[in-house]
Amino acid sequence: MYRFREYKIGPDLRPEAEPITSTMKCTTCDASGPTAEEFEEGTEWAVRHLKANPGHLEHREHITRPYWAEPGAWQ
Ligand SMILES: [Zn+2]
Repeated sequence: MYRFREYKIGPDLRPEAEPITSTMKCTTCDASGPTAEEFEEGTEWAVRHLKANPGHLEHREHITRPYWAEPGAWQ
């Protein structure tokens, strides 16, 4: 016999959860900025990267957000 448990999965807001981090990447040359909790660090890096590489106009921000499955009632 199998029993199933309901889980509610969502962003991990527990105090021990890992922080949400952001990493900016240049889509032209694949260079990465620093991984940081402050999102402004990525945009500041992109501005510096663009100044050093005038053709590199497009960037992509990678956000890492922890999720947690909250156990619920058994069915
Ligand atoms: Zn680049």
